[in-house]
Amino acid sequence: MTQLLKGKPVADAIVESLKSDTNVLTTKKIEPCLALIRVGNKSDDVAYERAIVKRCNAIGITSRQIELPEDITQDAFLDELKKINEDQKVHSILIFRPLPKQLDEKVIEINIAPQKDVDCLHPENTAKLLMGDESGFIPCTPMAVMEIFKHYQIVLEGKNALVLGRSMVVGKPAALLLLQENATVTVAHSRTRDLDKITSDADILIAAIGRSEFVREDHIKEGAVVADVGINVDDQGNMTGDVHQEEVKTKAGAFTPVPGGVGSVTTAVLAKQVVKACKMQMLS
Ligand code: NAP
Repeated sequence: MTQLLKGKPVADAIVESLKSDTNVLTTKKIEPCLALIRVGNKSDDVAYERAIVKRCNAIGITSRQIELPEDITQDAFLDELKKINEDQKVHSILIFRPLPKQLDEKVIEINIAPQKDVDCLHPENTAKLLMGDESGFIPCTPMAVMEIFKHYQIVLEGKNALVLGRSMVVGKPAALLLLQENATVTVAHSRTRDLDKITSDADILIAAIGRSEFVREDHIKEGAVVADVGINVDDQGNMTGDVHQEEVKTKAGAFTPVPGGVGSVTTAVLAKQVVKACKMQMLS
């Protein structure tokens, strides 16, 4: 029978373990603090921010919400970032992206303090991810996928894993994390030929391409574990993943639902990185 890899039990388990960490920090009068930098008022950003703040409150993490004007200049943004980088009460920083086009994300990435960079924007953290150096931070979404695999005891070692998508936010880090777990990893993208052949050989499939219900029954191997990262919202507000859930659920061995799968673990994973950043800065 196909196993449904729901996100909520994973997020709940992460939150419980973080609460004991924050309790220990409280006894030392340390309060982990996350700064959320939002430019403008995009509804997606506001909704994500609300979910993060709620999650943080429940764990004992303070969040500082910084809203900047939509037309902020690059210099003014960098000044704000510098202030937060230098504020010793703030242990971690999340910047909502994409940023308006007058802001150069490449410049901003190298200006965020690496020790506070819980969303893995700074090249130092990207390099640490590549090297498997655990003192860095991992982008939250691929980390959420790995937490789901760990929670449900999905064996990765020796398995053929396919990552669909090669973005810096999801696909590439997911591939590196799978490699660290000794999977044999293939990364497919928009120029990949004979995708059907590659997908049908995958024991583990992570779909992160942003194409609604792209992965069909024919694409997957019988019994495969399928993690659906996609979030696609149509004009009526209906959400679908990158996997055709109805078709895949009878053939897969296990799969993450959309909604209620990977997306519901992301804020818990972010909180985990905030607590890690705080401990590294305050206890070592
Ligand atoms: P992205 O930056 O647009 O990257 C999409 C990737 O998919 C690219 O590497 C692209 O290939 C590849 N691709 C596109 N069409 C393809 C096709 N027909 N066949 C094979 N590969 C194809 O997207 P992203 O930021 O990685 O996000 C991917 C999905 O995850 C989106 O649905 C997004 O909403 C979702 N997401 C979810 C969460 C969460 O918390 N669950 C967080 C972030 C993102 P090329 O490189 O060749 O262009």
